[in-house]
Amino acid sequence: MQGLMQDWPLLVTTVLDHARTNHPEQEVVSRTIEGPVHRYTYADLHGRAKRCAKALQKLGVREGDVIATLAWNTYRHMEVWYGVMGLGAVCHTINPRLFTDQIVYIANHAEDRYLFLDLSFVPIAEAIAERCPTIKGYVLMTDRAHMPQTKLKNVLCYEELLAAEDEHFEWVKVDENAAAGLCYTSGTTGNPKGVVYSHRSNVLHAMGVNTADIMGLRAKDSVMPIVPMFHANAWALVFSAPMAGAKLVMPGGKLDGESVHQLLEDEAVTCTAAVPTVWLGLLHYLETSGKRLSTLQRVVVGGAACPRVVMEKFEDNYGVLVLHGWGMTEMSPMGTASRLKPRGEKAPRAEQLQQKLKQGRTFYTVEMKIVDDAGKELPRDGKTFGNLLVRGPAVSKAYYKGEGGQILDRDGYFNTGDVATIDPDGFMQITDRAKDVIKSGGEWISSIEVENVAVGHPSVAEAAVIGLPHPKWDERPLLVVIKKPGCEVTKAELLAFLEGKIAKWWMPDDVVFVTEIPHTATGKIQKRDLRDRFKDHKLPTVS
Ligand code: ADP
Repeated sequence: MQGLMQDWPLLVTTVLDHARTNHPEQEVVSRTIEGPVHRYTYADLHGRAKRCAKALQKLGVREGDVIATLAWNTYRHMEVWYGVMGLGAVCHTINPRLFTDQIVYIANHAEDRYLFLDLSFVPIAEAIAERCPTIKGYVLMTDRAHMPQTKLKNVLCYEELLAAEDEHFEWVKVDENAAAGLCYTSGTTGNPKGVVYSHRSNVLHAMGVNTADIMGLRAKDSVMPIVPMFHANAWALVFSAPMAGAKLVMPGGKLDGESVHQLLEDEAVTCTAAVPTVWLGLLHYLETSGKRLSTLQRVVVGGAACPRVVMEKFEDNYGVLVLHGWGMTEMSPMGTASRLKPRGEKAPRAEQLQQKLKQGRTFYTVEMKIVDDAGKELPRDGKTFGNLLVRGPAVSKAYYKGEGGQILDRDGYFNTGDVATIDPDGFMQITDRAKDVIKSGGEWISSIEVENVAVGHPSVAEAAVIGLPHPKWDERPLLVVIKKPGCEVTKAELLAFLEGKIAKWWMPDDVVFVTEIPHTATGKIQKRDLRDRFKDHKLPTVS
């Protein structure tokens, strides 16, 4: 017997239609690239996204074409995002932090037709244009008055394109499994690979992420996605905020502590999300300026492990709840968040912190397990490490154009490349990327955990732990540290600080101080580069 419910395709345009109909007056506030703060409503966003779709149609863009963006989080980026998807085309967000050669590679691989860009990224477009023959034109997301001098050919002015259109446009009704978005992984090994989101996966993922134990957005929330739209859908907030009717605050390109704080306060933000480095910047600003957070209720920290100091300071000094989240581009991207269960709520603070600092538990639509190298499932005892596998309707089943071949196992699971434990409450904890684990005397040392304790030292700005070869133990950890400006700390002081906070045999064999630690385009430490750099470093424990 068949169910007799309506066949209502899960298209992302239904999300914006919902916001227009039910929350037309709700504000969308942006710090523009030109400078001033811009504000309008979901009704305005809806109308202009339709104009954008019409303008694209006039430019010859059709269903399935790929349209790229090089842009910060602003209302214009949202309009292009929904305009492109509403035309049945595919919005390819390019990460401007990638190397020029990587951007050229992905623009060609994706066969981008047009590139919509912020003023700040004109130099990138100029640097790639000659080598990107599929790009027919460049749309500068500004008005005529701000159009710059550029050597780019086929340059269009975004505001002029929109001014020539009206809002009467029917979203193109594509299949819910049609591609809506394209985002390349940062490609720490080999070329970046394209992750293709469908309308259906985006809608389901945004609903999952918005359940009460994860983001739990409501119409009374004011939400600021600091995590960029080019960093895997801004962790679904560009869908889940309009879905919930929450006020949306887009920070543009200014992500320093002071600028972030100003928007948080001016726009009465209640929920925000970003990688740890942004939070370290904000906390530093709060401490040096003596400013407070008067409306913020919860902060989502993800993309890299949340340092203990970030959680402690937000929660204890500012009364803001921290949700530690984990995910990856291939997962749309969220997979877990660390909201306590009733048992944890009643536990002593120290125990709570320990569990909240884990990457957290999954929400409905994400299935997760850990397995050994033979693929056998391992127990959820919080101690046993294994390869972390995931599956679900918003998890990739292949990369664009089949790069990387078959990526799922027989049971449809995707190997995340992370090594993790899962505790009896379902809280997953990442030990390391599989390729970064440190094997010492047959046991694993979690570089992430050591790093997170090290950045808790008041003089440490950033820390990285890598394994160096050791004749007796296979590998032993080396701690690489950047000191905070004007601060001093010695190796002995750092080791004393770590003592008692991590297992004895996890203690680094040596500490080196550097002025720079290499990062990927999504802000993760490039361990491979560090291992290369220190491959000849002699550990004092090697005689
Ligand atoms: P994203 O775009 O979500 O940052 P990427 O695909 O660039 O994701 O990288 C995903 C990887 O980032 C994960 O497999 C994991 O190794 C790491 N990562 C993401 N969030 C966390 C976290 N909270 N703690 C530790 N590692 C994390």
